[in-house]
Amino acid sequence: MSKPEDFKVIVIGGGPVGLTAAQILTKAAIDFAVVERRESVHPDEGAGIAIGPTTYRLLDQLNLLPQFDEIATPINTKNVMTRDGQLYNSYEFHMREYHGRPIAFAHRHDILRTLYITLPAEAQARIKTSKRVTSITTTADGVTVTCDDGSIETGSIVIGADGVHSKTHSMMAAMTGQEAPVFPSEFQGLFGNGPREKLPVETAPSDNWEAHSPGLSSQVFTGYSQEDVKQFVEEIKDLHVTSKLTIGDVFPHVNKAGLTLLQEGVVKSRSHERIVLVGDAASKITPNLGLGYNSGVLDMIVLVNHLRSTLLAKSTEERGEIREEDIANVFKAYEDDRRELTTKVTAAAQGVVRNHTWLSWFRKVFDRHLTPAMGLETWYGKSIMGPQLGKQQVLDWVEEKNLVEGKIPWTYRPSQVDLGEVDVKA
Ligand SMILES: Cc1cc2nc3c(=O)[nH]c(=O)nc-3n(C[C@H](O)[C@H](O)[C@H](O)COP(=O)(O)OP(=O)(O)OC[C@H]3O[C@@H](n4cnc5c(N)ncnc54)[C@H](O)[C@@H]3O)c2cc1C
Repeated sequence: MSKPEDFKVIVIGGGPVGLTAAQILTKAAIDFAVVERRESVHPDEGAGIAIGPTTYRLLDQLNLLPQFDEIATPINTKNVMTRDGQLYNSYEFHMREYHGRPIAFAHRHDILRTLYITLPAEAQARIKTSKRVTSITTTADGVTVTCDDGSIETGSIVIGADGVHSKTHSMMAAMTGQEAPVFPSEFQGLFGNGPREKLPVETAPSDNWEAHSPGLSSQVFTGYSQEDVKQFVEEIKDLHVTSKLTIGDVFPHVNKAGLTLLQEGVVKSRSHERIVLVGDAASKITPNLGLGYNSGVLDMIVLVNHLRSTLLAKSTEERGEIREEDIANVFKAYEDDRRELTTKVTAAAQGVVRNHTWLSWFRKVFDRHLTPAMGLETWYGKSIMGPQLGKQQVLDWVEEKNLVEGKIPWTYRPSQVDLGEVDVKA
């Protein structure tokens, strides 16, 4: 049992979803700590991430729209080719038309950095780096998280936002006497990023190109401008990186690329006792649909909506305490709300990657001929994915100052007035 005002969340993992958790918990005035194993909160690594309309609604609530407008490039068109570059499908994204917001592409590093630097200093101080979590113990009163440097964090609940190889998930499994679960991976993904201007043939900004072929598909977003980067490098080109090399010497030769397995799957249960999973730790969606981060953002919105309303309700009771059954109810409500969409989206992404890689003759005919001939991509966005997105939650106590809507209305419009800075400790 703990008093609502003493409630503290330990977030394991300071990736995109962990830092989004930090933003939302700050907005909700719920105490938290984030423990991240890497040395930096925003390492310059990883692939680009597409931000969709449901995430834009949260960014509006967090007053982060201007900052994300600076780092994200809206994507307008998708062009689909064969392996040897023959174009066979080209269509507009209709996100603005259907949902009032675009789909826009940003670097993981820029997203992490923006989420971090826009936090108030006292919230930044709660994000602790170079701490790999090695164990979690739960009791009737709370949780203790131990890190590899011997430090410990104590709190009321743990949110596992530690990605597809989630230590939190494997420890949850161990607590229930199960094997550490592993999401299967049938595909691997090569990713990288670089300056559009360096490409030997000119490409328009704000395009999305894909090649589909037997066993192989590619995906590129051409929204990346290097002008600011170049200008900054020019300003600091004399800075040494070794005794004999400067940034100006090194930068033209920098390449960022990586190879990763593309796991797929949804965990059977997202919670156990005082531990709950979000983001890639809970559902791993192949990147073809560009929904992994957006799904993790929805996880956090729903989880904190339930958690905050429970804390507030308890804080109005005389001698109100947060009991284990209250936490179990919060986690159950969160799982119930998230089950349908994550299951559908993960399955849809599994189908899409197999269509793009023409894994059977039917999938090839479907992708190569039926999809462009019948405009199935546009139909899917409008009739299947669109209504699902339209049903998703936003923070239910914060005003959306710049709420926009497209042809598919938002069904969830909890508050037009900012109830926002209500402190559960007050
Ligand atoms: C090639 C590619 C393209 C993608 N494109 C898109 C896209 O367009 N749109 C989209 O929405 N999604 C996309 N995704 C998916 C997106 O990147 C992920 O869904 C998102 O990063 C998940 O965030 P997360 O914070 O849950 O997990 P992660 O990004 O995996 O972050 C987990 C964090 O936890 C930390 N951590 C792990 N273990 C521990 C531990 N024991 N102790 C402490 N810290 C720990 C890690 O260091 C990391 O910082 C793409 C993914 C790939 C691979």
